Amino acid sequence: MELNDLYQSLSMSYNRIDPHHETWMLWLKKKSEEELFEVAIGTILVQNTNWINVDLAISNLFKHNITSFKRLKAVKCAQLEVLIRPAGFYKQKAQSLYSLAEIFLDYSKGSKTPSRNDLLRIKGVGKETADSLLVYCFYEAVPIVGTYTRRFIARMFGKVKYLKEKYENIQEIISNSLDRDYYVLGKFHALIVSHCQQFCQKILPLCEQCPLESQCIYGQYNQTQPELMQIQNSINKPKSVK
Ligand code: SF4
Repeated sequence: MELNDLYQSLSMSYNRIDPHHETWMLWLKKKSEEELFEVAIGTILVQNTNWINVDLAISNLFKHNITSFKRLKAVKCAQLEVLIRPAGFYKQKAQSLYSLAEIFLDYSKGSKTPSRNDLLRIKGVGKETADSLLVYCFYEAVPIVGTYTRRFIARMFGKVKYLKEKYENIQEIISNSLDRDYYVLGKFHALIVSHCQQFCQKILPLCEQCPLESQCIYGQYNQTQPELMQIQNSINKPKSVK
């Protein structure tokens, strides 16, 4: 199976599960200033924590009427740290949010779209976060590679190498298979995240309930095969990948 077939299968299965496309629509649609702010700060706040804590931090900000980068920039650092504290690492995240605010405010004044390197210069922003910002906030056609992407394609294609492959190499594989369109690439990533949270979980994937089981090497074959066992062992003990 090719990656493009995988994208089509995921799309079809989610048309059934989520007919109104709520899973990815908030992320992919052209956003109001407030929605853009929420999505952008979410990419920073979610690092090393979960969405429950991120929601608490965002709701603190919104309760204090901090609903735009202009307002965020005007908030004193000590207050910002208190408000985003539920998301953890609040000192570093506060600094990252101020840097992000600079970029978004420049952009809103007519500067060109920030480059990946501009975003990577923000402390705490790695490749996945930079690419997520480019796709979901600046509508750029960039493949996003995350832990979910690696786990999903490693299992689907039965290849352990995808867990360790260089970030840019996986981007190239995705670019060569899917349309260079922000909507397609953003939807592909959002579908993989949803699918992994719902079915293709880290320790015990729910293969018997998975709509892609018949197309998945890991789901189809005996998981005691050496390469499939290697995939699960590597997922259990992830190595750092660049
Ligand atoms: S069949 Fe299992 S391993 Fe394959 S995608 Fe579905 S949940 Fe993941």
